[in-house]
Amino acid sequence: MRTIVTKFGGTSLADAGQFRKVKGILDADPDRRIVVASAPGKRFPEDIKVTDLLIKCYMKASAGQEYQEILAEIRSRFQEIIDELELDFSLEEHFSYIQQVLEERPNREFMESRGEYLNSQILAAYLGFTFVDPEWCVCFDENGVFDSELTSRTLAAALKPLKSAVVAGFYGADRRGSIHTFSRGGSDITGSLCAQAIDADLYENWTDVSGLLAADPRIVERPRSVDYLTYRELRTLSYMGASVLHSDAVLPVSKKGIPINIRNTNHPEDAGTMIVKKLPADRERAVITGVTGKTGMCVLQVEKVMVSDEAGFSAVMLDILKQRGIPFEQCLTGIDTVSIVIGSDVFNANKVVLLDEIRRTLKPDLLSVKENLSMIAVVGEAENGYKNATVKIVQAVTDAGIEISTINQGAGELNLLIGVAEDRYQDAVQAIYSSISKHGNSRVRVV
Ligand code: ASP
Repeated sequence: MRTIVTKFGGTSLADAGQFRKVKGILDADPDRRIVVASAPGKRFPEDIKVTDLLIKCYMKASAGQEYQEILAEIRSRFQEIIDELELDFSLEEHFSYIQQVLEERPNREFMESRGEYLNSQILAAYLGFTFVDPEWCVCFDENGVFDSELTSRTLAAALKPLKSAVVAGFYGADRRGSIHTFSRGGSDITGSLCAQAIDADLYENWTDVSGLLAADPRIVERPRSVDYLTYRELRTLSYMGASVLHSDAVLPVSKKGIPINIRNTNHPEDAGTMIVKKLPADRERAVITGVTGKTGMCVLQVEKVMVSDEAGFSAVMLDILKQRGIPFEQCLTGIDTVSIVIGSDVFNANKVVLLDEIRRTLKPDLLSVKENLSMIAVVGEAENGYKNATVKIVQAVTDAGIEISTINQGAGELNLLIGVAEDRYQDAVQAIYSSISKHGNSRVRVV
């Protein structure tokens, strides 16, 4: 018997109608035995996710403000599901405990996690599956640092004996029982951890789109869908802004080569996108997998004549960032320059200290900051069939009259990062995509 771990996102479990669809999907394949659930998401575009309501409720409670109205709204979201599915499940005890915590010791992560905690119990009751609380098997240390080794062992011990289970996504706990959450969208990570722990054959991630698109449909008109891509490509695309899967969800399954299948709960007949270690040998695919990116970036440029001769100049630069715990996106080194691409919010929060320390330690000839930039990522298997891909892509951007601030080209497969002004971001993505469609949309046989 195969084992499929299925994760259902917030929109897939937003109301009773969606719960019914989930049951239909699970009934269609008995191998779908382990389910990871998110909190109820948006039912319609203007709706509010339960997790956001929980955070709002916590904020009010911790500021000593009235929070009963929001708490009642949260409760009614769950009660509606229970009533419509005619389940014998009482929220009474759970909500009086939440209220007690809010009164006595409001805790953000505890509160944030209650959406998954309750939704998973309701789903388990509806399906007749065992509820598994990740408080006991997704392990963090007291500082909130995730412990992957321990989690793998405890999750395996918890799940392997069960015929079927619903695991709450998004959170775990430390040894003292304090709740810790992953970053937003983190139920994807829980799903991946479960698949890894029990050596699943497949990790299905059910959401509200039929897989990954080659570009953002808000920017590019009707982009093509991606049927197959590698873990590496997905990691770059999702880190750079493609929002189909949490970027940290790839690592656990990729360790064991378990494929991920992105599926649509509202269209289960669609095959979705398969994410694999290596593309199957007999498949044809487009040479460019996707183009994505993010805004809100800046480049810190440090210039000093003879930098390249000065051993360790870039190492010192990176050490300054490390010492201050400042994460950066890219480090580009030239003959006499080191350029650090960094998120504007991170940079602005550390601006004064950082610039001061660079001046003192490195005594640069020039220290400049370019702000309001965006970074565009283009990934694919260009060398297979799209010759001179980088040249053609760069040409497309410059032909559109857009100035390029930075270019970072990895070796091997096409993994190109291009920095342009934020206000030209969409134009640049469109120019790149249409160039790809002209030259690089041809399909090649993967060998
Ligand atoms: N409910 C959480 C969020 O809205 C986690 C998740 O859905 O994966 O971010």
